[in-house]
Amino acid sequence: MTHPDTHPDFLWRNPDPKPSYDVVIVGGGGHGLATAYYLARNHGLNNVAVLERGWLAGGNMARNTTIIRSNYLWDESAAIYEHSLKLWEGLSEELDYDLQFSQRGVLNLAHNLGDVREGRRRVNANRLNGVDAEWLDADEVRKFCPIINVSGGARYPVMGATLQRRGGIAKHDHVAWALARRADAYGIDLIQGCEVTGFEIAGGRVTAVETSRGRIAAGKVALAAAGHTSVLAERAGIRLPLQSHPLQALVSELLEPVLDCVVMSNAVHVYVSQAHKGELVMGAGIDAYNSYGQRGGVHVIEAQMAAALELFPIFSRVRVLRTWAGIVDVSPDASPIIGPTPVEGLYINAGWGTGGFKATPGSGWVYAHTIAEGRPHPLAEPFGLDRFTTGALIDEHGAAAVAH
Ligand SMILES: Cc1cc2nc3c(=O)[nH]c(=O)nc-3n(C[C@H](O)[C@H](O)[C@H](O)COP(=O)(O)OP(=O)(O)OC[C@H]3O[C@@H](n4cnc5c(N)ncnc54)[C@H](O)[C@@H]3O)c2cc1C
Repeated sequence: MTHPDTHPDFLWRNPDPKPSYDVVIVGGGGHGLATAYYLARNHGLNNVAVLERGWLAGGNMARNTTIIRSNYLWDESAAIYEHSLKLWEGLSEELDYDLQFSQRGVLNLAHNLGDVREGRRRVNANRLNGVDAEWLDADEVRKFCPIINVSGGARYPVMGATLQRRGGIAKHDHVAWALARRADAYGIDLIQGCEVTGFEIAGGRVTAVETSRGRIAAGKVALAAAGHTSVLAERAGIRLPLQSHPLQALVSELLEPVLDCVVMSNAVHVYVSQAHKGELVMGAGIDAYNSYGQRGGVHVIEAQMAAALELFPIFSRVRVLRTWAGIVDVSPDASPIIGPTPVEGLYINAGWGTGGFKATPGSGWVYAHTIAEGRPHPLAEPFGLDRFTTGALIDEHGAAAVAH
């Protein structure tokens, strides 16, 4: 399918659902939109609908801290996240939209000997996988990011850091709008205010979805509902190994440029960058309890601020502007689940947990392939549901469980 022209007056149409589609994607976040886009671009499929119960990209896509990197430990993860990072590197041009993708470098701080060993190991593993990675000692960290407190007296002393220079941030709204605009231009229907409430399954095969706007027949149904995936799958009779938790983030008032890289610390559960507009964007660890309310506990933010101030004493007088939470879908090995399900024609893309924004294009690419071809894309193959019965887990807790 050739590249479509976008409409000059609006980003996307607001169509009513048709009675039937070849593919119905459930969830209009980043992953659903990217999947729709690549179904058309790479596979020539455009009799496709994205059904979103709220508004496009009103879920985690609009709530994340936008950190992008590919320095994961295991070969399978490095491969899929690096595929995604390579796509990011050409995406603004391809979508003809400024995504404010900024490869300013991502530091992962080490605060104890365990962190140092894990960090060095990850740098070596990354290099073997062709992923750019460097190890910095404390003095090099100070030179790279002078406002970090590397004095030995801190409660969490900085003993070094991994650095991925190609990592960075992007503007999440722009990413969603750009993908939506292109998907729409290909003829894909983006339907907002349309909640999927059930599935019609005949002879083990999905044939339609029930929605708040009526029944919609579907050749294939692809879940891309992040924190609500397990609730949806249960309606199709599938019990998933996913837990949904609130994950909080916050922004400060606007500041002059003060931080020109991304700093993450798994040990203190804090990650910080400064957005183009000037606000500091900070993420926290997950709230421990399961929940679907898009808000979290104040004590988590409090602990996060205390940790952030130890690392960045310069922020002590900065005021918090707003806090919020998204609902993240965490799998037992902190890796995503992509592929077919026991119901024929029903596909799943979930479990990205706290770290799926960076995967948006890569995930959409491999999910579209998996749906179009009816079998997993090679990069998605290790991430099938069956790994929870075979035991072939891809344990990324060290690199991904809390921070991004
Ligand atoms: C605070 C926070 C910080 C984060 N920081 C980062 C980060 O720095 N880097 C990173 O890589 N990742 C980060 N993430 C994770 C990332 O946001 C998610 O992994 C990713 O956005 C999930 O994919 P998505 O965009 O498709 O999800 P979503 O945007 O949540 O999309 C799912 C959509 O499905 C819809 N839906 C649900 N149920 C139904 C239904 N029944 N019918 C129709 N629609 C339905 C929802 O309304 C929602 O819009 C963060 C997440 C949070 C919450």
